[in-house]
Amino acid sequence: MNNREQTLSIIKPDAVERNLIDDIKKIFISNNINIKNSKKIHITKDEAAEFYKVHQSKPFYNDLCAYLSSGPIVVMILEGENAILANRKIMGATDPRKAEENTIRKLYGISIDKNSVHGSDSKENAKKEIDFFFKD
Ligand code: ADP
Ligand code: MG
Repeated sequence: MNNREQTLSIIKPDAVERNLIDDIKKIFISNNINIKNSKKIHITKDEAAEFYKVHQSKPFYNDLCAYLSSGPIVVMILEGENAILANRKIMGATDPRKAEENTIRKLYGISIDKNSVHGSDSKENAKKEIDFFFKD
């Protein structure tokens, strides 16, 4: 079966701050995920609030938006076979303590909020999130 997909990945401030950009990119590449586009940016809290709008009713929403806008991030379009689910597997569980061995979050995540990476969770959200950062 052939199902080439694109998904959005973000290397979050905690990982950029610890110089983990190349290490994380190598993990994608070694898993046959192509990094089609990549840029380092620093977003505002309002932009983070727009990006994470689906979580607006959650108790951690404000902290989450403050965090994503707290320092530089790297946004990437990943491309590959079943890339959306593949990336979620490579990332590991939201809470690094629950993430499987050798996942990015297990290797590098500090806590549930400082969990080093974001990845789109569905085809629909992947498209929305790619457009959010790369439509110009
Ligand atoms: P994921 O990033 O694995 O898709 P969610 O979409 O559920 O996870 O949540 C988005 C982000 O919000 C998480 O990556 C994490 O940084 C933060 N978050 C999720 N749940 C919590 C929580 N209980 N407390 C603090 N931050 C959280
Ligand atoms: Mg999510």
